[in-house]
Amino acid sequence: MTPTAATMTSGGTTARTVLESVLPSGIGVFLDGGIHPGSGVQVTLTAAATGETFTSYADPGRAGVDAALASSVAGAAHWAATNPFERAAILRNVARVVEESAEELALLESATTGKPLRDARAEAAKVAEMFGYYAGWADKITGQTIPVPGNWLTYTQRVPWGVVVAITPWNAPLFTAGWNSAAPLAAGNAVVLKPSEFTPASTLRLAQLASQAGLPDGVFNVVPGLGSSVGAALTTDQRVGKVSFIGSVPTGRRVAAAAAEVGIPTVLELGGKSANIVFADADLDRAADGAISAIFSGAGQSCVAGSRLLVQRSIYEDFLQRVAERAGKLQLGDPLQPTTEVGPIITAPQYQAVSARIRDGLADGADLRTGTALPAAIASGPLATGRWILPTLLAGVGPDNILETTEVFGPVVGADAFDTEEEAIRRANGTRFGLAGAVWTDNVSRAHHVAGAVKAGTFWINSYKTIHVAVPFGGFGDSGHGRSSGPGVLDEYTQTKAVWVPTQASGSPFPSLSY
Ligand code: NAD
Repeated sequence: MTPTAATMTSGGTTARTVLESVLPSGIGVFLDGGIHPGSGVQVTLTAAATGETFTSYADPGRAGVDAALASSVAGAAHWAATNPFERAAILRNVARVVEESAEELALLESATTGKPLRDARAEAAKVAEMFGYYAGWADKITGQTIPVPGNWLTYTQRVPWGVVVAITPWNAPLFTAGWNSAAPLAAGNAVVLKPSEFTPASTLRLAQLASQAGLPDGVFNVVPGLGSSVGAALTTDQRVGKVSFIGSVPTGRRVAAAAAEVGIPTVLELGGKSANIVFADADLDRAADGAISAIFSGAGQSCVAGSRLLVQRSIYEDFLQRVAERAGKLQLGDPLQPTTEVGPIITAPQYQAVSARIRDGLADGADLRTGTALPAAIASGPLATGRWILPTLLAGVGPDNILETTEVFGPVVGADAFDTEEEAIRRANGTRFGLAGAVWTDNVSRAHHVAGAVKAGTFWINSYKTIHVAVPFGGFGDSGHGRSSGPGVLDEYTQTKAVWVPTQASGSPFPSLSY
């Protein structure tokens, strides 16, 4: 039986206990319903809240990839031939089982990543919702009949790609596993998912649950391992029909280029540097709450984080004070405590990177406006050795500051003042990213003008961070291409086939074209 969060404190021992309880076979390749250990280099996992090692596993390398793909090719053929109503029923069952197991999944996610339990619970519920939503589409993917000159019946069919490889990052492993698997599965593809090497546990459990819910063998396989071995092998293997990637810009570009070399198309969901724009006529308390949630939930380890705060000059100091006060009251601490709002930085390299970026931002002239000392409960207890970064508000982050254009992916927001609407829009559009953004104002015309003018795949008016599987999500510019939610994503995961049949025997059905 899975231990409950109420009995545990985050750390290496807890992460090990939860992992052994939920995944007794340990971390390995999930294929055909079972977990198989790899034999390559060891990957060591440490608990974010304490820095303690809690497990290690062997990278499965090329052999693991080969085994998973062989299974997936067979799984894809079987799944594509399965009646769509049956596929829909199985995916509904996956949604039900994930919903019933949400607490266990959330505990596993929180214990092994350091993500606050309340966030992990919300994300587990979202994953059930994703499978439920796309189960609804699985038996509604249709083609068209198309009128053409002459005597023809011409129609289209939507055909799955076969094997879809999904590659996910460490910041929201369970959420992104659902995000990148429910839709391709509904469209009739098999999925091979490579989670981040740092956070494979919840994805493995999700695949186990999907299998228990009736997903046939080979339809959803998981290959935990390093990007340089497993990731590179999966994205360049011609048994793969399509790759969907969520991660950083440099890796996304590398993956897209390598996949293109062997003719595999990609969907890329990459990073962001989203602007949160606050006008003087906004409800400033709501806007301050929104600014806090935009950057500090998930400790800023969020692709849509509102990491640039652009504030109209007349309210700049007042607004920053409201944000700083709220930031100071955020509950940092044990991720397994349901009251914890901000957890540690999930990976050790990211902890180093965020720390360095704060130093760089200060060196470029920014002014630190939030606290400098960790809460006593962290500083003196077992969490003292964890990867903690205080919610950080830096003022005076102008266009020349490194923080204006560089994604930090941590609890760090750079603020600056603007005077006019045009200036705010220009600043918002001053990066190559285009993932998200928001505007806070009581002027409805201004709200829609700014929403129309900012280059971003998602934009909120007087809100931040709401996303739903029914609504398209994806980036402009360096933030990626393709979409990963909403009904349109079914186009990403199917190809269109046109079928022609002559409807009258007379006349030649063979036109003289050399297309
Ligand atoms: P990353 O790019 O370092 O890694 C992402 C994944 O790619 C991992 O699974 C990694 O193992 C794999 N990988 C690495 N090298 C590879 C290679 N050569 N071939 C194939 N796969 C390879 O990103 P990360 O540090 O895990 O995640 C943080 C980044 O993800 C941030 O930039 C963040 O903005 C982005 N992100 C974007 C979204 C979104 O929806 N747009 C969501 C979450 C995270």
